[in-house]
Amino acid sequence: MISSATPAPTIVDRLSAPHHGPVPFSVEFFPPKDAEAEARLWRAVRTFERLGPAFVSMTYGAGGSTRDRTVRITGELAAQTTLLPVAHLTAVNHSVDELRALVGAYADQGITNLLALRGDPPGNPLGEWIKHPDGVEYAEDLVRLIRELGDFHVGVASFPEGHHRAPDLEHDTRALVNKLRAGAEYSITQMFFDVEHYLRLRDRLVAADPEQGAKPLIPGLMPITSLATVRRMAELSGSVIPDDVQQRFAVAAGDGPQENREAVRAVGIDFATEMAQRLVAEGVPCLHFCSLNFAKATSEVLERLGVDVRSAMPAATATPAS
Ligand SMILES: Cc1cc2nc3c(=O)[nH]c(=O)nc-3n(C[C@H](O)[C@H](O)[C@H](O)COP(=O)(O)OP(=O)(O)OC[C@H]3O[C@@H](n4cnc5c(N)ncnc54)[C@H](O)[C@@H]3O)c2cc1C
Repeated sequence: MISSATPAPTIVDRLSAPHHGPVPFSVEFFPPKDAEAEARLWRAVRTFERLGPAFVSMTYGAGGSTRDRTVRITGELAAQTTLLPVAHLTAVNHSVDELRALVGAYADQGITNLLALRGDPPGNPLGEWIKHPDGVEYAEDLVRLIRELGDFHVGVASFPEGHHRAPDLEHDTRALVNKLRAGAEYSITQMFFDVEHYLRLRDRLVAADPEQGAKPLIPGLMPITSLATVRRMAELSGSVIPDDVQQRFAVAAGDGPQENREAVRAVGIDFATEMAQRLVAEGVPCLHFCSLNFAKATSEVLERLGVDVRSAMPAATATPAS
């Protein structure tokens, strides 16, 4: 059994704790590549710290490529900030022994909230999935492994449009139910650009298993600040950008050789705010923002949702960093 000296609060507890604004929010970061990117991450971290997210999460690079950085920076978030970190952990390319060691490394740093993922094959995320000979096949198995190791609190991924490897939505919903039955306490969705996809997943989940369907289904949002970036992210994640939304961005981008970044960004903030408002009205438990390690766009959306962003900023930096 692995135990942590100082067990952290759970995500489910945090979602029912007092929060700023109409609903709790959380933020996803990724491990920065170099010192400059790391400085930018920390500026964003300090800005978000003042805004009081329910939790923050740190991704695990494709194919396990950022293992050491993910572990180190998640540990620093736990030790040096007031934020509650969730560490993403992927099964790809890891033996069960390595996965156990990683969970132990997190516990040593007081990190007991983990997001259990299968991960994608390194190189080409859409390429053939090959299980590590001594590893696990599905995220469901990783949930069980982590839970057997000690008093950890586990979340999983969910896919409003279905996972790209799932033959159909029913199969994918069953896979999610199985991960929750295995002991996951909540799920965070893949980002999506049509709220209907989220609502239909929520309905499918509740219909498939009311008990598991009552667990928090946290929608993942990404405020779009560049058309090129969002097209790439959508391609990698398999999320579809509806035609009318693409059209809105295309008009903003203009037909010059370079997209009009300022206009695209303005539409992106409007669009993310509209999605967030609809999701709040639909009673979501939390809004999870993929920040790309910048605080500004998410802060603007939060401000429009009624979070008092200005008073959370120190006087000298009334404008959120980056
Ligand atoms: C919120 C979020 C965070 C993410 N963070 C990261 C990250 O940090 N690093 C990273 O590399 N990737 C990350 N990903 C991507 C994720 O690893 C990939 O999408 C991966 O392909 C699927 O992971 P999973 O955990 O959902 O896998 P699984 O739940 O194992 O599902 C994989 C496929 O198998 C099917 N399936 C599941 N269980 C069964 C079963 N028992 N029998 C038959 N079929 C089954 C599912 O329908 C699906 O098609 C994230 C995704 C999300 C939504």
